[in-house]
Formats: sequence, C-alpha cells, structure tokens
Amino acid sequence: MANKLRFDGKVVVITGAGAGLGKAYALLFASRGAKVVINDLGGGRHGDGSNTKVADTVVSEIKQSGGEAVANYDNVLEGEKIVQTAINTYGRIDILVNNAGILRDKTFARMSESDWDVIHNVHVKGSMKTTQAAWPYFRKQKYGKIIFTSSNSGLYGNFGQANYSSAKMALIGLANTLAIEGQSSGIYTNVIVPTAGSRLTEDIVPPDFFNELKPELIAPIVLWLCHEDCSENGSIIESALGWAGKCHLIRSNGCILRSNKNELINPEAVQDNWGKIIDMTNAKHYESIVDVSGELMNVIESFSNKK
Ligand code: NAD
Repeated sequence: MANKLRFDGKVVVITGAGAGLGKAYALLFASRGAKVVINDLGGGRHGDGSNTKVADTVVSEIKQSGGEAVANYDNVLEGEKIVQTAINTYGRIDILVNNAGILRDKTFARMSESDWDVIHNVHVKGSMKTTQAAWPYFRKQKYGKIIFTSSNSGLYGNFGQANYSSAKMALIGLANTLAIEGQSSGIYTNVIVPTAGSRLTEDIVPPDFFNELKPELIAPIVLWLCHEDCSENGSIIESALGWAGKCHLIRSNGCILRSNKNELINPEAVQDNWGKIIDMTNAKHYESIVDVSGELMNVIESFSNKK
C-alpha cells in the first residue's frame, strides 16, 4: 500500500459540510492533517431556513479529535465570504470542494420558475461564485484543487428532477472549461458523482440499500482527487458503496451524408443513413474540442479526395 496520504499545511474549504457527504469529506480531510473550513447554511432540504449549529457541530467534532476547523454559515451564493473565512483564519486556500446542495423535485409540467431558479442558484451559481473567489488565490500560488459535485440524475436523467439534473450537468460543463483554463496554473478540476445515503436520498432509496450507501465510502475518492500527488484533471468520477469509476462522453463514427462539397443534404438522406449516424460500434471519446474540430477537417479532406 502507498504511504498514507496527508494534507498537512493544506487549507480545504468544503461547502455544505455540516451533513451528509460534505461532513464525511471534512472529517477525513481533518484526520489527515488539513485545516478545514466547514461551510453550511444549515437550511432545510428544499433550501428553507438556516441554523448555525449544523456547521458548529462538525467543527466541534473535528476539534475534539485534535483537528483544525472553522465554521462559516454563508450561503454559497456569497462564496467570496466563505473563501474569505479561509484567508482570515488560515491565510490561504488550497482545495475547494463544491458540495452544498438542495432539491426541489417536481415534474416538468408542475415546475415553477422559482423551483428552477433556486436549484440553479445553489448548485450552479453557488459553485461558480465560490470557485471564482478561490481562483485568484489558486492562480497566484500556482496550485489549487477543485471538486464539483454532479449527479447521476444529470448524467442519465431522472423523473421529476428537470431543474436538478440540468443544474448538475451545467457543473460538468463548468468543470470541463476550468480544467482547461486552470491547467497551466496548476489548478486541477474534477467532478464527483456520488450516490450516498443522506437526507436528500432517505425517502428515495429503500432503507436496506440506504444503510449501505455510506458517505464515508465516497470521501477517500474525493481526498485522492484533491491530493498533491494526483494529476487527474477534467475527469468525472462516479462513486458509491466503495466502488469508483470514470465516466466520459463517447461519440459514434457517424457518416458523411453527401458525396461532394457542392452538394446539399436533404432530410431523406438523414432518414436513409440514420442507422449509421447512431451506430455506436467503434464509438470514440474525444479528449478536447481541438480533436473534435480536427475530425471535421477530415470531412472536408474526404471531399477533396473524391474530386
Ligand atoms: P445533505 O442535505 O445531507 O447535505 C447538503 C448540505 O448542504 C446541508 O447540510 C445543507 O445545509 C447544505 N446547504 C444547502 N444549501 C446550501 C447553501 N446555499 N449554502 C451553504 N450550504 C448549503 O446532502 P448530500 O446528499 O450530502 O449532498 C451533497 C451534494 O451531493 C449535493 O450537491 C447533492 O446534490 C450531491 N449529490 C448527492 C447524492 C446522494 O446520493 N446523496 C447524489 C448525487 C449528488
């Protein structure tokens, strides 16, 4: 087994760290020597109310075990205040885990604009605001680890979660671009897609399964992604039950629907070739937009070969 992974001297900010997954991450980071900012607004499952005790309880637990932690009670929409707590208390920030989240499940037919906005605000804007506040510190010190929290509801869709699943996919787009923009400054961004027993899932999964889905089984994956020895950047890691795997988009080979570049295509050509367009045999993953654009050049090339 590798040497024990330590975080001595590192300052970690975890949003929504008062319960569930965030709490499990916080306890493990602190037990490995990190100084942890426990952000939690202490609100209800749907984003209502607030309670400082939620963050305070985790801070006490860490301190009682000999670790270092400080509470912050701000909404992630005021991410700059959360990051400021790290700077004021510990003078730096090295790791940011964007984890805070709520649900407002409704079928799309019954979803109000406010159900949409509240979810997008907490998950997407809150993660953006907190990350943007940390970004200048990461750039200056040429080091930073960022985690965004997505969901299988986003990756695969889920009945009654149009607001939540779209917000969770937005975070993947955000992570994709920050992984590119941050790389030259030593800022690595990855996405965790957890499945865990928490108040968000207690009435969704059967009790026996719920008890097996321990948040503590996901925390080690997040810790590794945030460790200085880990060079992973721009990845989506799904995890539950002590299992973890990487997830990425693949695209079919597709087919060219015209024989030369002076020809236009019509809907019937699409209909006739639909089987080839969606045939996933030999489907490929593309590492970057440059690779995808490069393949488009091959389409033009194929026409000049046919002249
Ligand atoms: P949880 O409800 O147990 O914990 C979330 C914490 O975030 C709560 O303590 C809450 O007070 C806090 N919070 C909510 N809104 C906040 C805000 N605006 N500002 C600051 N704090 C806020 O939920 P959890 O299951 O541990 O979820 C953690 C993250 O994981 C969420 O982003 C959730 O969407 C995501 N997730 C969870 C699961 C799962 O199976 N539990 C699956 C996929 C994704």
